[in-house]
Amino acid sequence: AAMRDTRIKKTKTVCTFCGVGCSFEVWTKDHEILKIEPSENAPVNSVSTCVKGKFGWDYVNSPERITTPLIRKGDVFVEATWDEALTVVAEKLRGIQAEHGSDALGFIASSKITNEENYLIQKLARQIFGTNNVDNCSRYCQSPASWGLQQTGGIGGDTGTVKDIMGAGLVILVGCAPAEGHPVIASRIKRAQKLHGQKLITVDVRRHEMGDRADLFIRPKQGTDYVWLSAVTKYIIDQGWHDEAFIKQHVNQYDEFLKMMEPYTLAEAEKITGISQATLIQVAEMVRDADGTAICWGMGVTQNIAGSHTSVAIANLLLATGNMMRENAGAFPLRGHNNVQGASDMGTMPNIFPGYQQVVNDEVRAKFEQAYGASIPAKPGLDNIQMLEAIDRGELRGMFIVGEDMAWVDADSNHTQDMLAKLDFLVVQEIFLTTTAQFADVILPGVPSLEKDGTFTNTERRVQRLYQALDVTGNSKPDWVILTELAKKLGYDWGYTHPSQIFDEMASLTPFFSQCNYDVLEGWNSFLWGSQDGSSTPILYLNGFNFPDKKARFGLFDYVAPAEFPEEFDLNLDNGRLLEHFHEGNMTYKTEGLQYKFPKVFVEVSPELAAERGVKDGTLVRLVSPYGAIRLPVLVTDRVEGKTIYVPMHSSSHESAVNLLTGGAVDVVTHTPAYKQAKVRMEVLELE
Ligand code: SF4
Repeated sequence: AAMRDTRIKKTKTVCTFCGVGCSFEVWTKDHEILKIEPSENAPVNSVSTCVKGKFGWDYVNSPERITTPLIRKGDVFVEATWDEALTVVAEKLRGIQAEHGSDALGFIASSKITNEENYLIQKLARQIFGTNNVDNCSRYCQSPASWGLQQTGGIGGDTGTVKDIMGAGLVILVGCAPAEGHPVIASRIKRAQKLHGQKLITVDVRRHEMGDRADLFIRPKQGTDYVWLSAVTKYIIDQGWHDEAFIKQHVNQYDEFLKMMEPYTLAEAEKITGISQATLIQVAEMVRDADGTAICWGMGVTQNIAGSHTSVAIANLLLATGNMMRENAGAFPLRGHNNVQGASDMGTMPNIFPGYQQVVNDEVRAKFEQAYGASIPAKPGLDNIQMLEAIDRGELRGMFIVGEDMAWVDADSNHTQDMLAKLDFLVVQEIFLTTTAQFADVILPGVPSLEKDGTFTNTERRVQRLYQALDVTGNSKPDWVILTELAKKLGYDWGYTHPSQIFDEMASLTPFFSQCNYDVLEGWNSFLWGSQDGSSTPILYLNGFNFPDKKARFGLFDYVAPAEFPEEFDLNLDNGRLLEHFHEGNMTYKTEGLQYKFPKVFVEVSPELAAERGVKDGTLVRLVSPYGAIRLPVLVTDRVEGKTIYVPMHSSSHESAVNLLTGGAVDVVTHTPAYKQAKVRMEVLELE
């Protein structure tokens, strides 16, 4: 028999794509990735994975990786040593701070790097530069969901685990398409339908796969989810189907809530949402009859002007029916990136320290000031939308962006690109020469997850370790090493030699993590934050809600109708994911198999609209919004209806990038762009 090849190594890692948090072993030989092997030991996915987690790793060894520091000289990037690059970064950032003040700097963290690295970015901003101007990409996606859950229950995270979604009697999917965006969660729902007759309601403007599989598929008018959710809740209460005992014992503001709900009658809801009263009653009955209702939601909810308020309406429905503080029920915003939950948990937001401790809280701030030996402003900093506004006013002059392709994923990306071009100094820490990196003055080459140790936190609040599977490529460095060396250049000797030390420091300052460390997380073990005593807790709130009186509160907010557009923009532009690709596509377009399956994006057009405009599959069209224009071919499909069209958010080309079209309005609370409330007109170009 052939000798076993001793160069083959198996390393446990965590998927680098969506927020489900699948873990598995990666088989490698030198720098070659041989295969992904799932394991029954994996706490979320067991032996399941999806096509991205299984095959989407070519990007790691892509020849397009940046593997040496680069400094801009005029129009070109010139290779530099680490010492040269970090010296320039330190001097330029200090120079801007000296001339224009600390708040002339902004820091963008990343949902693709580890918890430890995110922690260091907020530490760099707060300790070394004395600014709270730090944010991450949850601002573009799930900040409204976190806010809504904080307002009502006190913690901005999923209230249970994937097991609870699977165990629920009824799952309601609102504005999320898990078969495309969170495939392993979709597979769990499909299994639960077979195993215990789980009921499924899917609510979306686009009939995706989970719409086809639902017991009830509902297509509301875009941006009106708040209204049907409130009407169903009111109807349940009016019929006496609510959980009166639960409310009495655990929820405040009930009387005010009843008053606020008065306008949301079934008749009014039908008028605003387009959903018939009979269907609304059917939803209420299905909630009444279910042993446990779990509501999952995504960016169809959050990327709207009323995104935060709608997230509150979801929590209100669950509280009124006693679907919190228990198994097999609850609130599940599905996080998009593998570590977007962790990025926020680590305090890379302008108003919070790690563990959602408030910057405005004097006691909390004093704790961090003492630990950091620095003075930290009491005022929350700017979020990433406000940072762009501050660039426009000439107030924000320098930015440090890690692993975030802002210039392509921001709504109205033409505008974002103009703002990045206006900066005096931009540092981008990246693995590829992304659109954003092309605006940089210095590029610092970080590494993908397989080339470092650390932890990621999935949508369930579950923290899992990833172990270094490959040597770092070329002259790149793990992101935590880059940040530690930069700190040293700036006069701060953090002294970390392994990410576990960073985690321990974070945990010592953060009650939710006080009982967690790398030993607890060894191998396949994991930890779910959310308990005040710092122990692991799969289900939130079992000992009371996260407020001093341990009671939740009904959220008292009103409906905010979508913004008006000029009449010429007559089509609703929906946008989102495809199964095979991930976000802007910087990683998945580098995997040949995935690229082959979907080499180009397209616009989905309903059969009615296709007939009206005389277009068919392959017809090249130009979509024009108030912010920009793109060209792409038509795909006629009954997934969309009437004047709603759908463009995937992934694009291999700038000609077809959907965020050239989105823009303008933002969620009234969190400033999350209303990506899902875009409007366009369509010009037919030619048959392709
Ligand atoms: Fe990765 Fe998400 Fe697919 Fe799991 S479901 S393998 S976490 S992309």
